[in-house]
Amino acid sequence: MTGKEYVLKVLSDVEKRNGNEAEFLNAVKEVTTSLIPVFDKHPEYIKAGLLERLVEPERQIMFRVPWVDDEGNVQVNRGYRIQFNSAIGPYKGGLRFHPSVNASIVKFLGFEQIFKNSLTGLPIGGGKGGADFDPKGKSDAEVMRFCQSFMAELYRHIGMDTDVPAGDIGVGGREIGYLYGYYKKLRGANDPGVLTGKGLSYGGSLGRTQATGYGLVYFTQEMLKSKNDSFEGKTVVISGSGNVAIYATEKAMQLGAKVVALSDSNGYIYDENGINLDVVKEIKEVKRGRIKEYLNYVSTASYTEGSRGIWTIKCDIALPCATQGEIDEESAKILVANGTKVVSEGANMPSTLEAIKVFQDNGVAFGPAKAANAGGVACSALEMSQDSMRLSWTFEEVDEKLKNIMVNIYKNSEKAAAEYGHEGNLLMGANISGFKKVADAMMAQGI
Ligand code: GLU
Repeated sequence: MTGKEYVLKVLSDVEKRNGNEAEFLNAVKEVTTSLIPVFDKHPEYIKAGLLERLVEPERQIMFRVPWVDDEGNVQVNRGYRIQFNSAIGPYKGGLRFHPSVNASIVKFLGFEQIFKNSLTGLPIGGGKGGADFDPKGKSDAEVMRFCQSFMAELYRHIGMDTDVPAGDIGVGGREIGYLYGYYKKLRGANDPGVLTGKGLSYGGSLGRTQATGYGLVYFTQEMLKSKNDSFEGKTVVISGSGNVAIYATEKAMQLGAKVVALSDSNGYIYDENGINLDVVKEIKEVKRGRIKEYLNYVSTASYTEGSRGIWTIKCDIALPCATQGEIDEESAKILVANGTKVVSEGANMPSTLEAIKVFQDNGVAFGPAKAANAGGVACSALEMSQDSMRLSWTFEEVDEKLKNIMVNIYKNSEKAAAEYGHEGNLLMGANISGFKKVADAMMAQGI
């Protein structure tokens, strides 16, 4: 059987088994089609059923999360944890609290996480979780009661050597704090390695907050370097205004770029003089407000309703840091027409498969999410190391390690792409490089 026949066969089985899970099917399609040359070269992987095993999660947990709102009414949400693949280490991956969370989204994120985590070079397997709970507009007390109820079920499935959750959209320092506080109560033990993204006062790592955004920029810097270019003097558009977008903006600005736009799910701001990041941090990190409020501080900026319009702004570099599917084919075509040379993904799977094709057909350098945004989970693994050693590294130590990890991810992706005859295709390179380590581990450990 050729690599292509094998992949098509597995894809058709995956479709049969997961018919209505569009996000998951897209992710599987993207990854498996880029692995065709690997299966051509390694028939032993086909014999061992590696792909059939890889696309089926080791375990999926779905649970009821009842909690009491501030009016005294009982609300019920659905919680998820998917333990996708533990070949190279304990399951590792964030928790997403967002109304859109469903089985397909958690599954696609968990699947991506396997390869992303492998790319970091650190011993972490792939997992993901979350709930269809919307923290927006909830009081701290409501968020706490929700987190406690969520942990009341989750705690029995996680542990520092088995499964280590962290944050994702809607889960930041506040939520991790509540989750950890309750875990400790239930277990009766101080076991900080069970969650990452913790506060600095109870086992968190310096640099974790910045890691995804900084890592994205370090990775993109390598893409630019390969073309003898840099961030200096570039106009950058960044979607989102959460943790990833904020620290990508900070690092891009430190490297001499001008970031002119940020967004949230309602709309986007444009500030031709360059975004004032202190204002954004005040709005988002202190007040938990909406990006529109930027106008209250900087009257010369503009605000436009609808988040997709952000891709009509002329820029050299686009860093999508909001959510999956935010750049569709049409937006990709507009970016190309406006002369954008680099698109590098801070969110998970923000470009649709059609958008990626537009970039590739038009010579836009494309940094795929699982490589470009791996800095967050890489730093989580560094947090796990510090927790195990019961010591803390300085910010500079963590940042230096993060930078090295991102440079290595870039180099390994580039090398794998070239080795399999697709020079410059970082998407294929990242998939192949991430897959190879997992494949080796699975082959070594038997079924
Ligand atoms: N949610 C982040 C991601 O998508 C980080 C996960 C983690 O730190 O475990 O990779």
